[in-house]
Amino acid sequence: MAAAASDAQPSAAATSHRVAMDTLVTIEAVGGPSERTDERTAKAFAWFAEVEACCSRFDPASELSRLCDQPGTPVHVSPLLFRAIEFALAVAERSGGAFDPTVGDAMARAGFTENYQTGATTGARSAALPSFRDVALDPATSEVTLGRSLTLDLGAVAKGLAIDLAAQELRGLEGFAINAGGDIYAEGRNHDGTPWAIGIRHPREFDALAETFAVSGAAVCTSGDYERTSSSEAAHHHILDPSSGRAASGAASVTVIAPSAMLADALATAAFVLGPERGIAFLEEQGVEGLIITPGLERFETTGLQEFIA
Ligand code: AMP
Ligand code: MG
Repeated sequence: MAAAASDAQPSAAATSHRVAMDTLVTIEAVGGPSERTDERTAKAFAWFAEVEACCSRFDPASELSRLCDQPGTPVHVSPLLFRAIEFALAVAERSGGAFDPTVGDAMARAGFTENYQTGATTGARSAALPSFRDVALDPATSEVTLGRSLTLDLGAVAKGLAIDLAAQELRGLEGFAINAGGDIYAEGRNHDGTPWAIGIRHPREFDALAETFAVSGAAVCTSGDYERTSSSEAAHHHILDPSSGRAASGAASVTVIAPSAMLADALATAAFVLGPERGIAFLEEQGVEGLIITPGLERFETTGLQEFIA
């Protein structure tokens, strides 16, 4: 990370917003002629709609839902869906199952059933607690086989994947930042010519920041127990311990800084389930930086985190 240039000149900047994946997506683009920037920004936003149409558990017509409707059969899937499932299974393996994309039915049982676009609800397919080991991939044929009836949930990776695909469209601009509901990828410089400053929400004081990071060419993603809540007894928030199907309780928020948003997004969810000590050890092992704040507001950090604190 380079230091801010003191003689930096302000550059032209454009900010645009869209709603996708049940959240507000904001793209800030710096530098370049405006038509080129507008065209790239439109392509970047289009990825959010595309990933959502492919990977949503709440849309019965999504490619993911159609796959889940065919347990026991090898199903040929698109490169996008294959990539998301393959990555989610890899994180599941690496986290010893703390991260598990087969939590879809447990999520539905915890009350997370509503499609934010249509208001329609989707129930659970099975009453069992499956595991990521029930999903088999064949890279040679791009086929996915679900070994039993289950619902895949890619909610912890899809936003990160869309951010990374959007970033590819914007690469080459002087600078850009993509913010999808607090999950952020930033590259180059902001309009002041300085590195992007990314504030992390305090998990309990909603108008305060817990920390500010300065990054360029990196993603900063946060999983918080305040983000999506439910009145269900089994889970009052949206990050489940796959071994019990109940809400994970060791952390209030986990922020991960990583080279890609898909990685930061998934590893933040995994570390949330692991809790502070095991979560930090896991993030160190994965070679990324992280901050875990517990419900008692204790802070746990990876050793390299200080370098990013603005
Ligand atoms: P995030 O906000 O990135 O932490 O992701 C939370 C979302 O990931 C939830 O809304 C679920 O869709 C999904 N999810 C919940 N618990 C888990 C888990 N243990 N492993 C993988 N995905 C999960
Ligand atoms: Mg996540």
